[in-house]
Amino acid sequence: MTEKKHENHTLDPENWDEIRALGHQMIDDLVNYWQGIREEPTWKPIPEEIKSTFDTVVPKQGLAPAQVYEQFKTTIFPYNKGNVHPRFFAWIQGTGNPMGVWGDLLASGMNPNVAIGEHAPMYVDQQVVSWCKEIMGFPENSSGILVSGGSMANITALTVARNSFRDREIRKKGLQQTAEKLLIYCSVETHSCIQKAAEIIGLGTDAVRKIGVNKHFEMLTDELEDQIRMDISEGFTPFCIVGTSGTVNTGAIDPMEKLLSLSKKYDLWFHVDGAYGALCKLDPIYSDRLKAIEEADSLAFDLHKWLYVPYEVGCTLIRDKKKHRDSFAVNPNYLLQESRGLAGGLDSINNYGFELSRGFKALKVWMSLKEHGLEKYRKMIAQNNRQAEYLAELVKSEPLLELTAPVSMSITCFRRIEPGFSEEQLKELNREILLRLQESGIASPSSTILNGKYTFRIANVNQRTRFEDMDLLVKEVLRIGHEILKTESF
Ligand SMILES: *Cc1c(COP(=O)(O)O)cnc(C)c1O
Repeated sequence: MTEKKHENHTLDPENWDEIRALGHQMIDDLVNYWQGIREEPTWKPIPEEIKSTFDTVVPKQGLAPAQVYEQFKTTIFPYNKGNVHPRFFAWIQGTGNPMGVWGDLLASGMNPNVAIGEHAPMYVDQQVVSWCKEIMGFPENSSGILVSGGSMANITALTVARNSFRDREIRKKGLQQTAEKLLIYCSVETHSCIQKAAEIIGLGTDAVRKIGVNKHFEMLTDELEDQIRMDISEGFTPFCIVGTSGTVNTGAIDPMEKLLSLSKKYDLWFHVDGAYGALCKLDPIYSDRLKAIEEADSLAFDLHKWLYVPYEVGCTLIRDKKKHRDSFAVNPNYLLQESRGLAGGLDSINNYGFELSRGFKALKVWMSLKEHGLEKYRKMIAQNNRQAEYLAELVKSEPLLELTAPVSMSITCFRRIEPGFSEEQLKELNREILLRLQESGIASPSSTILNGKYTFRIANVNQRTRFEDMDLLVKEVLRIGHEILKTESF
């Protein structure tokens, strides 16, 4: 017998000093990265030979920690998406903030599973949810849960809406037993995650009634009411209105008060998708228009967008705590709650959502809010809105630029125009400008199509952007436009 009988294996380092030094190095590298990010390109293409390093078989033998980190530094770190950069404006993607990153580091180091049990992270999670309620003006006795993001937050809310529909015991019987054909109402500008959610919760795409919008891209409430009436007369059962506070395309705000009163009139669940824009409530210029959020039955919003917390974290709030809990709570033997000890403490969080195992995502929110305070966030969000308005003013003052949507919240949509060009030519010109902006690393806007016009879309939930970045953007759009027209024919 040569085999050693009780050999102890572990993943902890043989040399703690080495792992400590490497950790310090990582922190230094990150801080240098943030500090110097403004001077770096927003984005750069990934060379093929780098991509091929991500196409190997699973490593069978380990490497020294320093070697692993070296691989990260050469193949991953330089090819980031760029949403940490002050001139990243694509889609709607938050910048993160240093304290939030430390929060994630500490959360990962503590590594609690924040679902059940008596431990401080459960109280931090509860604290953050209650701050979310306070920020959104939801009542203290409402409930909520932190989830991975807006899509999960929306489906969580719509599941509660569906499960608590009248007394149909949908949770137990499914939709098979309900004679009603349940319908959800939202606008054509609503985020695609609402449709996906409707499909997953068993309603199907056909159950999503997409209502038209006005020239500000806001839901037409007359059309909504006509549709509801028509559907009722045809034997359907409207059960939920989804209003968007800040559409993904243009930042449009559906008429919240009106949607709320229609929900009451027809006894429907009123859900608000505020993934991007609910936090805009903090900007005094928008707070009135977003006031009705406080009356919604449920609200979904992201903290990784406009609270600038690192990915991922979103939140669902539900006005009626009982309906929320009744939608998800199950008590198997292996998850029994105790009155004392490790299994004591707060109500398990999996009673309020689908997931059981959950990370300590609350910590990065808790630490960020503690460090900066809500008043600072109010300023930051207002600043993004003012920057979007400032950009629109710059666009209006340039005869070769055209605003393609009214500015709402922090999204500015515009394009380069050229006398005599057809829509198709304009699209090609603007596409080329956009690609060169991105590929040269000057700025990263994205695009959309509004009323048939191909358009740059500058969505700003960036805590590093300065007003002069908008000047630069306009200057570069014009410069690249001229350069293209000199050398390319359309
Ligand atoms: C971003 C967004 C979503 C999706 O949120 P994720 O966090 O990306 O899952 C849904 N609705 C709106 C309005 C959004 O802006």
